[in-house]
Amino acid sequence: MSILTEKAPSFVREIAPYRAGKPAAELVRELGLNPETVVKLASNENPLGLGEKAKVAIAQAALDLGRYPDANGFSLKRKLSERHGVAAEQITLGNGSNDILELAAKAFLKAGSNSVFSQYAFAVYPLATQGCGAQAKVVPALNYGHDLDAFLATIDENTRVVFVANPNNPTGTFLTEKQLLAFLEKAPSDVLIVLDEAYNEFLETDQQYDATQWITRFPNLLVSRSFSKAYGLAGLRVGYSVSSSEVADLMNRVRQPFNVNSIALAAAEAALDDAAFLKKTFELNREGRAVLTQGLQALGLEVLPSAGNFVLVKVGTADNAGALVFDALQRRGVIVRPVGNYGLPQWLRISVGLPAENARLLAEMPHALAVLDQA
Ligand SMILES: *Cc1c(COP(=O)(O)O)cnc(C)c1O
Repeated sequence: MSILTEKAPSFVREIAPYRAGKPAAELVRELGLNPETVVKLASNENPLGLGEKAKVAIAQAALDLGRYPDANGFSLKRKLSERHGVAAEQITLGNGSNDILELAAKAFLKAGSNSVFSQYAFAVYPLATQGCGAQAKVVPALNYGHDLDAFLATIDENTRVVFVANPNNPTGTFLTEKQLLAFLEKAPSDVLIVLDEAYNEFLETDQQYDATQWITRFPNLLVSRSFSKAYGLAGLRVGYSVSSSEVADLMNRVRQPFNVNSIALAAAEAALDDAAFLKKTFELNREGRAVLTQGLQALGLEVLPSAGNFVLVKVGTADNAGALVFDALQRRGVIVRPVGNYGLPQWLRISVGLPAENARLLAEMPHALAVLDQA
């Protein structure tokens, strides 16, 4: 470390950088694979790509890039406020919902305060917490999911933010409306509850609920949504939250003035109108998730029931089973996500793909699992 970088705050130097999935193109180069046949099931992206309406909006917005974006995202906020039946002042736009999570942390956390979240929860919660110099309090998981009673016992007088992912990534676990409401009833009203719903659009009819309607009753609730998953706009980076207007006002103070770019604003607005694309996405996912779950179970593997667009599968009992099988799959041209960094070194997270991609994964898996016998 140089005399310069050692002067950076220790809480910054100790951050473990987020490990994203490798772009398929990079892997193709590294392993000399055939780019035509590589299958990427690693980042919970929409296997259909983006919808036609979004494509048209993108092409049009691209013609006006000499101008700054609308710093307040007026048009997208108006559409979202109509969609949710809330005031536009309650909406905050983010450069991906990742930005929303960071803004919530930035607005409420500092050195000496803490955030509470679950073991095996989304990797951005510890990053956002540590980036503010605050402490992370990790609640042991219950059957790989969130133990909300243990959350309540963990919250202390220095807790300012609680992160709840529903469904959770990478486990796919799900909390019911009833469980969430019971938690909100008991949680202290001076603690911000961030309900991260990046996979909300994939919920089955009998699982669906609308937490944005609970904010009047629980002004300490912030609901975060993403355009990256079901809406297929991962590359554009756009997400939003619905909260009380007071919380939105605070987040607005700590965000970059132009945090969402013009193309993202236009595409998100168009995507909201593309109900047919969303429906197609939902049905494709529902079917693919069942095919993957049953196919992996048929290989004798444990698969957690998933409410998202991915499944978590235990591929072996050795401590490096996940890494070994990940590597073997990759060499066979199928990219999935190892989750050792989540404390799940025996598991792999596999995103639901197109039917042919799911079939390919299932066909390659027995070959990849064979490396465990040689290890
Ligand atoms: C993917 C994901 C997000 C963030 O996605 P963005 O692309 O930043 O909108 C947030 N939360 C969870 C649980 C996720 O899996």
